[in-house]
Amino acid sequence: MSDSKELNARARELIPGGVNSPVRSCRSVGAEPLFIRQGYGSKIVTEEGREMIDFVLSWGPLLLGHAHPEVLRAAREALDKGSSFGAPCTGELDLAELIIDALPGVEMVRLVNSGTEASMSAIRAARAYTGRNKILKFEGNYHGHVDSLLARAGSGVATLSIPGTPGVPEDTVKDTLIAPYNDPQAVRDIFAEHGGEIAAVILEPVAGNMGTVVPDREFLTELRRICSEQGSQLIFDEVITGFRVAYSGAQGYFGVTPDLTCLGKIIGGGFPVGAIGGHREVMEMFAPCGSVYQAGTLAGNPVAMAAGAATLRTLAGMDYADLEQRTREFATKLQQILQPQAGPVQLNCIGSLFTLFFTPDPVTDFASAQKTDTALYGAFYRQMREQNIYLSPANFECTFTSFAHTDEDLETALQAARKVSL
Ligand SMILES: *Cc1c(COP(=O)(O)O)cnc(C)c1O
Repeated sequence: MSDSKELNARARELIPGGVNSPVRSCRSVGAEPLFIRQGYGSKIVTEEGREMIDFVLSWGPLLLGHAHPEVLRAAREALDKGSSFGAPCTGELDLAELIIDALPGVEMVRLVNSGTEASMSAIRAARAYTGRNKILKFEGNYHGHVDSLLARAGSGVATLSIPGTPGVPEDTVKDTLIAPYNDPQAVRDIFAEHGGEIAAVILEPVAGNMGTVVPDREFLTELRRICSEQGSQLIFDEVITGFRVAYSGAQGYFGVTPDLTCLGKIIGGGFPVGAIGGHREVMEMFAPCGSVYQAGTLAGNPVAMAAGAATLRTLAGMDYADLEQRTREFATKLQQILQPQAGPVQLNCIGSLFTLFFTPDPVTDFASAQKTDTALYGAFYRQMREQNIYLSPANFECTFTSFAHTDEDLETALQAARKVSL
């Protein structure tokens, strides 16, 4: 057995920065990554053998917790029959049906391997369908590492303060328009100027990549109205929110139906899966029905399909309202514990995700999110981690709970928070 320190040194020799996704580096919280060797329920175990309560959950996919028996059984059963065929398999139909039944805006799905692929292809379809080129996105929203969508992006781009994105030619982003989140007037202004050119408005219907930012419902309903009126496709990137804020996603939670939906994370049950969903007319733009090219050697992988379908079937029977209430109570207690030392702390919470922002002002968009005191968050993170509470290693990410988190887990985390000094 090696410890994380040695492994990190080795990793930095082999992999840029020692990680295969930047935020894992824990740089913004002044720590080194922990190597994880195992997970069960709400817990993970590091290579050093430390058992920790996990509030990252692989960045959102594991709403049932780690190594859920039903999910593992389904994956194992599929794996025993072979790992990949590159041909249709019934698992694809099961997962597609579950997604279509759950989400109001989805009549057909194309299954892909990641959230990035989903948003990339959703935009391609929207452009082809409308015959327009421009895309409107929002500051602090993240849609994967798609060239045209990295402008003013959240997640690691925000966390690591990466200015713009070298390697993305200006020509690639010349059709990307950007508005502040939660600001319908800004959207109206942009449409007044570019209306006839905008193929799609893409957004996280609850932002999760600048920390959690819950939209005003009117923001979503206004986007719906504008897009319908202007002939633009409304794309909800539900890679985080799908099957998390509600089984019916943010579109079910808020009662606003998009034209296209991007999915990922939870629908793979911990395996690499993404999906684009939408109404039949636009989905049939994809080859071989239509001429919009989109493909994947491992898309619809039978093991991933089985794990995803088992995850959604299990989630269908879960009490989301109860988890939402327990999460809110837990997060509110954390806020109350921290405030006397840290000064005012803002809590943004919905479903089973939340973020604490160390700032006196409400956080409603990227500008207000950036006012958070990331140094205070870093100190909080490190002291919680010393006490075996594994939080998101960046303030601009969500903290997640799962159906596997018991009241005792949450109480243990609160006890740890009481010992933190900021
Ligand atoms: C994680 C995420 C993505 C990217 O998904 P990957 O599977 O990492 O490519 C896209 N959109 C949102 C909202 C995400 O949170």
